[in-house]
Amino acid sequence: MRYLIQPKNPNKTHQRRVALVTLGCPKNEVDSEVLAGQLRDDGFLLCPEPEEADIILVNTCGFIESAKQESIEAILDLLRLKETDQNPEIYVWGCLAERYKEELPQEIPEADGFFGVEAFDQIRSRLNHRRKDLSDATPGSRVLSTPSHTAYLKIAEGCSHQCSFCAIPLFKGKYRSRPIVDLVHEAQALADQGVRELSLIAQDTTAYGTDFNDGTRLSDLLRDLVQIDGIEWIRILYAHPSHIEDDLIQIILEEEKICNYLDMPLQHIHTPILKQMGRGMRREEIEGLIRKLREKIPNITLRTAFIVGFPGETDEAFEELLQFIQATRFERLGAFTYSPEEGTPAFEFGPIPPKNIAEARYDQIMQTQQEISLELNEAFIGKTLPVLIDEYDPAQKMYAGRTRGDAIEIDQTVWVQGECSIGEIVPVQITDADVYDLIGVLNPS
Ligand code: SF4
Repeated sequence: MRYLIQPKNPNKTHQRRVALVTLGCPKNEVDSEVLAGQLRDDGFLLCPEPEEADIILVNTCGFIESAKQESIEAILDLLRLKETDQNPEIYVWGCLAERYKEELPQEIPEADGFFGVEAFDQIRSRLNHRRKDLSDATPGSRVLSTPSHTAYLKIAEGCSHQCSFCAIPLFKGKYRSRPIVDLVHEAQALADQGVRELSLIAQDTTAYGTDFNDGTRLSDLLRDLVQIDGIEWIRILYAHPSHIEDDLIQIILEEEKICNYLDMPLQHIHTPILKQMGRGMRREEIEGLIRKLREKIPNITLRTAFIVGFPGETDEAFEELLQFIQATRFERLGAFTYSPEEGTPAFEFGPIPPKNIAEARYDQIMQTQQEISLELNEAFIGKTLPVLIDEYDPAQKMYAGRTRGDAIEIDQTVWVQGECSIGEIVPVQITDADVYDLIGVLNPS
């Protein structure tokens, strides 16, 4: 759970104080940042703690069961504040409110209102009591919840894939790319406020432009983004493997600013399961793509994610996945146990492996990956890597940063000894390695 802070003028007490509580993924985080910017421009005071707010906005996640549960618990926790002298207005918005727009108001009548995804105008209108003079805030006026040198850039909404396990297309609609001109404008505004690293996000970043039906692709957007002064690292998250074409590989290879990094969730490798999942690729095609990426882009950091316990995942199918992970040695890897979601095709599929089996499979994958990760990390000892410094940790008396192969909030940390500044990219000599961390000293030479 993340809170947006940075009050603009903490001494003004007549302004109504708004706290934004965000659950879920970076796409939600960006929505909260946009709304926070708009509310700040409307004259509200952004408040770091819900306990001090007149109004609380909870941006929820409705992706899978555990995320839904987390959102509901957060809402119920916050509703307790209504029984105190503070008695804030509490509004629920985002994916969960969109997905359960009929049920939620009945289940949680204590909340003051519910809004779906992209309901920025409705929320502002409600909070401003239908004022006519609302500022026309643009996405460039986001209030960042990340450190000020790094930001997500949400390049599209919705998803036109139909992965059988996924509820997102049910409530986020078809894929809609944002125009390049808007994205460049937003990226420029972020660069002007000190952002040096952009992480491109969407439900599927590599489908960018396909809905324009004019040949536009992600590589076209990247070609414009790399021209922006001040932006030094650009990384691509949430890449669907079926859209990774040669022009994208080429621009990653050619453009120094684009990190040799790709987050590409694969979900499984056993072809019959991939088919059941509706992933649109067979094992051989995925293997061919990985081979090509590694041949063409030296030192690429590949991040992926797999689902275990999907309906029909036999011991043999899981063993195939495990062997694939051992052989491919992904630099970064996450795993999830399958969550049956009502309304999705997979919800109607045959029996799923028992919970204890799915959990054991998850453990086996993560244990395997830990061994791989440690070996890969140890190979960096003695090398010098550029590291973007995110923060200083007084407890460790070290700076925490990331390499070009590490996305913020997702991947590894490099712990840095020596004097540097937050937001700086510095050369760091790696002296030690852990499963998910590197340790190094500032190497000024
Ligand atoms: S690509 Fe598949 S898993 Fe990802 S959001 Fe779209 S439907 Fe869901």
